[in-house]
Amino acid sequence: MRFIRYVPFDQLHRNYGVIKDANTSDDLIVFIESQSMLKGAHWHPERLFFLLSSARHFARALEEQGFNVVYRKAENTTAGLQEIQQQHPNTPIVCAEQSSFRLTDKLRSLNATFLPNDFFLTPRTLFQAWASEQKAFVMENFYRKQRARLKILMDGKDPVGGHWNFDKENRLPPPKNYTWPPHLEHSRDDIDHEVAAELEMSPTTTWATNREGALKQLRYFIKHHFPHFGPYEDAMTLESWSLHHSLLSPYMNNGLLHPREVINAATKAFESGNIPVESAEALIRQIIGWREYINGMYWFLGPDYRNNNRLRATRTLLPLFTDPNATSMLCMKATVTDINTRAWVHHIPRLMLLSNLALITGTNPQQFLEWMRRVFIDAADWVMVPNIIGMGVHADGGQMMTKPYAAGGAYISRMSNYCKSCVYNPTLRTGDTACPFTTLYWDFLDRHKEAFAKNHRMSQQVFGLKRLSDLPELKRRAQEVLAGLEKGKI
Ligand code: SF4
Repeated sequence: MRFIRYVPFDQLHRNYGVIKDANTSDDLIVFIESQSMLKGAHWHPERLFFLLSSARHFARALEEQGFNVVYRKAENTTAGLQEIQQQHPNTPIVCAEQSSFRLTDKLRSLNATFLPNDFFLTPRTLFQAWASEQKAFVMENFYRKQRARLKILMDGKDPVGGHWNFDKENRLPPPKNYTWPPHLEHSRDDIDHEVAAELEMSPTTTWATNREGALKQLRYFIKHHFPHFGPYEDAMTLESWSLHHSLLSPYMNNGLLHPREVINAATKAFESGNIPVESAEALIRQIIGWREYINGMYWFLGPDYRNNNRLRATRTLLPLFTDPNATSMLCMKATVTDINTRAWVHHIPRLMLLSNLALITGTNPQQFLEWMRRVFIDAADWVMVPNIIGMGVHADGGQMMTKPYAAGGAYISRMSNYCKSCVYNPTLRTGDTACPFTTLYWDFLDRHKEAFAKNHRMSQQVFGLKRLSDLPELKRRAQEVLAGLEKGKI
């Protein structure tokens, strides 16, 4: 054997990573199913099912193409690779750069050779060079540089459509009397059934577990949802769990789709004239802006960044995060029910409901991060660490984002149809029917007013506290709400 080529479960693509240069005659392609990973946390069953079944499908596809494939269950990744090494002494391990610090350290300890990780469009060194020159890590600046560098939606030096950003057009609430197209269902095969039986679960048909299914999802999104994606990307509604979202992040995060393939399909559709520029721009921004920025920041900020807790938040994770019956807040009940069903909600419930609630209740960031990592289908370490610690709960003291994403019920009421049917009232901040988001938002600002008053992007919000004549009553209600949330009675 020439090389032991190690394929982690998030690099499942024939044309990228360690497989791209592999040959069928003298390379051994190795997958390790780590039992300590499987049993080490209370993972969402859909997430485990998706990761395992996708890897097993990919391993079988390589075998069918004539590769020498070993798919091994082992106590952990290191032990599995050591077993393979013992059977093939003097055969070097080669892999692409791993997607987490933890796995990188493991592969280093085995003297693996690393090829560049080409599952992103921005090499890590290029992002480091950009970030090293910034005073503040403004995503918008990174995104514009990416657009120009990669020549995506560009008209010479100018952005197509005359604007870099269509945020104003893309913040519509859910439309009334609207029929949302259904989402695509994926059929299950023998490998899926085998994995489901081992996990003793019954999977939904929401997520594809092979390359064909992922490509089908891409085509379905482009045809049925892409034209309306942008304007409603921030909306939330009881009438549809997926709205016009692409549902492609799991496949880009486990390698079944490469971001370049999604971009090519999106720009081709846009050039055909069927896609409004605000939708095209919104999708491209998510992929070459946010996705690449978050991955770059993960590596730039380093392995200790995840331990930040600059707001000294110590509350234990609230029961409503796992049990939708532990709350009467309709927005949270609907969101947690959706997560429990299929391990996914879109970016606004993640940021403005889940993270916002964790932020304003002072929930311990590491406990919240650990929960988010366990329950989302696409929750890679590189996504969740900067997204939660930096963006979601402001635990880094503003290192990544200049202000916390804290909001009261007014934002949720504007962007959803939840509040109309809720027992709470988003306009009230005191009293038994006050919206917990509204009460806790002001309480959060008051608790941190000294620190936030120095932040010019927060000073207006902190100044608003002075206009609250009922602050003592609000503070009393906030204590009641926090105690009620802990008991699962709010
Ligand atoms: Fe959520 Fe408050 Fe609206 Fe109820 S009133 S749905 S708790 S934001």
